[in-house]
Amino acid sequence: MNYYFYAYFRNPKVTLHVGSCRFCNNGKGMQPKKLGYLTGRWRGGYASFELALEAAQGFSQDLGVQPVYCQRCFPGVTESNTTQQALSRN
Ligand SMILES: [Zn+2]
Repeated sequence: MNYYFYAYFRNPKVTLHVGSCRFCNNGKGMQPKKLGYLTGRWRGGYASFELALEAAQGFSQDLGVQPVYCQRCFPGVTESNTTQQALSRN
């Protein structure tokens, strides 16, 4: 399974996704490519959740935010939950 995160620039936000998520669509997203690149950017895919989280956390730090989890990929998991909880959901 591949993992991705989306960095949204206008209102800085980093959201973690599983590649199979329909919002993620393996890093293609739901928006037309051109529009997607104007508002933010997909990063991935990462071979493991740990790698994706590490990259997302680094990126979030630069933006001054905390990474959040897509509620479709990681239902009920919030930024205050542990990585282990996120992993056990998948
Ligand atoms: Zn998702």
